[in-house]
Amino acid sequence: MQANRRDITIARRIVLGAMGVCLCAWLVVNQGLRAQTTPFVAEGYGGAVATADAQATQVGIDVLQQGGNAIDAAVASAAALGVVEPFYGGIGGGGFMVIYLKESDRVITLDGREQAPASASVDMFNDPENPGVALPFAPHRISSGAAVGVPGTLLEWAEALSRYGTLSLAEALQPAIALAEEGFVVDETFASQVTQNQLRFAAFTSTQDLFLPGGQPPAIGSRLKNPDLAKTYRLLATQGVNAFYRGEIGAAIAQTVQPPPTIAEPPFPVIPGGMTLTDLDRYAVRVRPPTVTPYRGYTLYGMGLPSSGGLTTGEIFRLLEGFDLSPTNPAQTWHRVIEAERLAFADRNAYLGDPEYVDVPLAGLQSEEFIATRRALIGGGEAFPEENRAPQAEPEFRATPGNPIPYQSDPSPSLTTFQPVAQPKGPEGTSTTHLVTCDRSGNVVSYTFTIESIGGSGIVVPGYGFLLNNELTDFDLGVPHPNVPEPGKRPRSSMAPTIARGPEGEMLAFGSPGGSTIITTVAGIAVNLIDLGMTLPDAIAAPRISQRNGGTTQVDGDFEQTAVGQALTDLGHSLEPVPEIGAAVGLIHYPDGLTTVAAEPVRRGGGTAMVLMDAATRQTLGRSSLILPP
Ligand code: GLU
Repeated sequence: MQANRRDITIARRIVLGAMGVCLCAWLVVNQGLRAQTTPFVAEGYGGAVATADAQATQVGIDVLQQGGNAIDAAVASAAALGVVEPFYGGIGGGGFMVIYLKESDRVITLDGREQAPASASVDMFNDPENPGVALPFAPHRISSGAAVGVPGTLLEWAEALSRYGTLSLAEALQPAIALAEEGFVVDETFASQVTQNQLRFAAFTSTQDLFLPGGQPPAIGSRLKNPDLAKTYRLLATQGVNAFYRGEIGAAIAQTVQPPPTIAEPPFPVIPGGMTLTDLDRYAVRVRPPTVTPYRGYTLYGMGLPSSGGLTTGEIFRLLEGFDLSPTNPAQTWHRVIEAERLAFADRNAYLGDPEYVDVPLAGLQSEEFIATRRALIGGGEAFPEENRAPQAEPEFRATPGNPIPYQSDPSPSLTTFQPVAQPKGPEGTSTTHLVTCDRSGNVVSYTFTIESIGGSGIVVPGYGFLLNNELTDFDLGVPHPNVPEPGKRPRSSMAPTIARGPEGEMLAFGSPGGSTIITTVAGIAVNLIDLGMTLPDAIAAPRISQRNGGTTQVDGDFEQTAVGQALTDLGHSLEPVPEIGAAVGLIHYPDGLTTVAAEPVRRGGGTAMVLMDAATRQTLGRSSLILPP
């Protein structure tokens, strides 16, 4: 804070002493802010933002320009994304935020994950006509009131601001209100997402009204306005989070969930949910310690339970630490990564769940002795050696989970008898969005949020302009399992917002959307950066290789055809090309204040990365001008 005030004083002196010079400087800055050589990569000073959308990134940059910090910028950009990318995340969903606070030199995490209502049970997706049988995953379960968890996103924004920000919630919502009123131009990605979801969107009157104007997906190039969401954000700005968790918006959510506003004859039976205003009233954001994983001179900070993100990427890094991964032999490097991912996912699937409900053997899972037993299963010469394969596994390339219980150094005995079960790879959403911010003081935010599927449950809250999540489909329905639905429980997530401290004191932040591929995308970016020596933009743009203890290893782009892809196939890996995995963003903030920030250039239509001030502008203006007069 003191540093800020000193900077402000210097800036004011400059403004008062040289008005003419400053006016020119302003013009330079504003031009510099908007004129980027590429929208995907930027380098400069004063702070940086990268998100999935240019307007949302600009909102964050504007907040930094007005003196806001990284937390303010993250929340304002996220609120804007709720308007311009409503199918990825918003106040109807949940998320996880990892924050590095420069002044106290610590990393904290905020858990804004959705929570099951009191009515949740293991048979909540069952067919009322056919007791004991769960309805199909899509479109039935994913487009149901039963799948809607109590949203955490709004309270997470409010907590982040009140604990670590400088703006009020009302201030942080203003740019998003303007965007919702002015509307945004529908691009190809948005239009095709509506088309892909047309059947289920058309099943709900409120969703039809908003996203299917005239009964059809909005035309590419048309402007989509959302006055209802502008009204909702305005209500929140004036009445605060109580309007949502204890007031009229909450009442509307409960009413929407039980039962959802379907058309007269929906094309599939829509399962109602049981969420009440009491469930909303009880919701709380948790402040949790990060997971901490040392890896080759870096320290990686991730999201702990109920997300599996930090722990599973952590197990992958712990396994890999025992190998010499060389850029000169990328096939052998990716072979090890694939095998480490396979084993880590077997353990994730068997043991991880909401820590407030299950006794997860964390000490054992993270102990070097347990990791050594798992590492010993990784062979150098072939994909997943036969003797290590699960005996009953179908397909045969699935690993059985290890047993961490003997390695629990935790003196308190486990109260739960675990029944490690290798879960088959279930269908998961590919929605979600990630953003990163940093400010001139060196605070950094890495934030992943979601409504689960693209378009969440497909149910817009009538009159309020936002989609409700379908996050409760992330629970496992086969009992016994640590991730079964229970009242008040949070479903296990894969979201892996990551912050890392590098060997030179630089701070990195990165993350991705993509369901369980988030974990492998984040691990892959770290390997690209740390082991293969790639630049940040290259690490983000590189092909993805994703093994999640399934029979095949998914790859995107034309990776399968490359020499490395061929070499992996020769080692016995079964590569499965998929259109795209993980539209990531990231940044590196160096100790001298320089920041490199990068967004995905192609996947999902590409994101945007911006710095407050590029290097040339900074040279013209001098360091003190990083704080601009109001
Ligand atoms: N529900 C997913 C999770 O929490 C995120 C949604 C997605 O990215 O598809 O892991």
